[in-house]
Amino acid sequence: MQALLDQLRATVGAAHVLTDGDLSAWEQDWRKRDRGRALAVVRPGSTAEVAAVVQACIVQRARHPQQPVSIVPQGGNTGLVMGGTPDHSGRQLVLSLQRMNQLRGLDPDNLTLTAEAGCILASLQQQAEAAGFLFPLSLAAEGSCTIGGNLGTNAGGTQVLRYGNARDLCLGLEVVTAQGEVWHGLSGLRKDNTGYDLRDLLIGSEGTLGIITAATLKLYPLPAARLTAWAAVPSLPQALTLLRLAHRHLGAGLTGFELMGQFALSLVDRHQPQLRVPLWRQSPWCVLLENSDHESQAHAREQFDRLLEAALEDGCVSDAVVAENLAQAQQLWQVRESIPLAQVAEGLNIKHDISVPVSRIPEFVAATDRLLAQAIPGVRLVNFGHLGDGNLHYNVQAPEAMDAALFLQQHEEQVNHLVFDSVQAFGGSISAEHGVGSLKLAHLEHHKSPVALTLMRAIKLALDPAGLLNPGRVIRL
Ligand code: FAD
Ligand code: ZN
Repeated sequence: MQALLDQLRATVGAAHVLTDGDLSAWEQDWRKRDRGRALAVVRPGSTAEVAAVVQACIVQRARHPQQPVSIVPQGGNTGLVMGGTPDHSGRQLVLSLQRMNQLRGLDPDNLTLTAEAGCILASLQQQAEAAGFLFPLSLAAEGSCTIGGNLGTNAGGTQVLRYGNARDLCLGLEVVTAQGEVWHGLSGLRKDNTGYDLRDLLIGSEGTLGIITAATLKLYPLPAARLTAWAAVPSLPQALTLLRLAHRHLGAGLTGFELMGQFALSLVDRHQPQLRVPLWRQSPWCVLLENSDHESQAHAREQFDRLLEAALEDGCVSDAVVAENLAQAQQLWQVRESIPLAQVAEGLNIKHDISVPVSRIPEFVAATDRLLAQAIPGVRLVNFGHLGDGNLHYNVQAPEAMDAALFLQQHEEQVNHLVFDSVQAFGGSISAEHGVGSLKLAHLEHHKSPVALTLMRAIKLALDPAGLLNPGRVIRL
């Protein structure tokens, strides 16, 4: 291993090959479920350096086939499925893209920007805005996740309803392959039917097929106004009625429709007392809506008022508040985005990131809630998510009196099987936006069709036959 480490130091500089000291920021996953042990954390500063790191690993593997090293690409390490941290072998390099954080260019007429993989998402949003454009990908981890990680996981977030997920926002990629070559695919083309879509294959492959070093991304005009409302909703079928009304009244202006269950909001109220959580005590569900308007603030308000009037009349909303200014809107979003942290404060729970067709959400939740309550009396559900996309974070928390660690130990498998079987019965997906990583690998093998798994294995074997890139994640050979 020494020869490899020497080679890496010569390639990226000794200061950027970390082997000593506290490596927990790279070795431990965000939820602190597990901490692996890295051979080293390598922080290349350019695409050529990334390629040289891969080549050095190929040479090492040829010399020591009994002890093969492998590479775990990593961005901000905010992933939730244990896909970006090393295993316990001590033979995995964490290849951190954090130093590759340059904006390479912005093309106003093509409505694109090109950025390196290590750019922090919030910083890209700000740079786009400074140039007068919107880069709409948005999620609670945006202050530390990177665009490389967003594309690696095909991240979703809160604006998918209007703008799509990370894949929909990407026009081109630059990628270092498992052979240490560079694929220069940074096209800003909106139309290109020259064969298989390598870009879309790489997006969402969670670092198992190639290392994304840069991307060309779509920009949108900045809306003239963004208005946020918070509505109390008596039931899930009524939340769907509100969604239908919102589509009708706001059209393309509807850029956010987030659902939050009462227990999820009670956790924010308990663990983040500095935040004021509106309307949660009086209603089993609340919905956060966002209206982006290209005319004016007044027009946005008018549309919202008409929507809420119709919703109150219908009875699908029992009460509502509209943010009067940006600060109030930010406070409402902060409540929504604090749910994951409030859950952490409450103790470990069993997280799910599932999707079913939007129309089947009420039926799915009723059926699955019932099965869980029968199986584990007193179990608590932290249910929230992107209702407009049919994507719920259907998280299962221990009964009040039960120790969280013990709950996980005794019930994790049982709960996962119950929830995933239910998801399958409703025609859904066991991972809507977080990916598979190592956490959901076995479940994927159980729930994905054998034909799909065979095709996925064939792709992995074609692109990375030696299993150099993120082995044991997404698909097992
Ligand atoms: P990492 O965690 O570093 O890596 C994630 C995966 O991508 C790993 O498999 C890694 O190997 C791979 N990868 C990283 N960089 C590259 C690269 N350059 N090339 C190839 N592969 C790479 N996700 C959502 O989709 N929607 C949400 O609403 C959302 N909310 C979140 C809220 C919180 C509070 C947190 C902590 C996470 C949330 N996530 C959400 C999950 C996570 O933030 C996203 O998956 C994010 O896109 C990961 O980016 P990252 O840079 O942190 O990637
Ligand atoms: Zn989410």
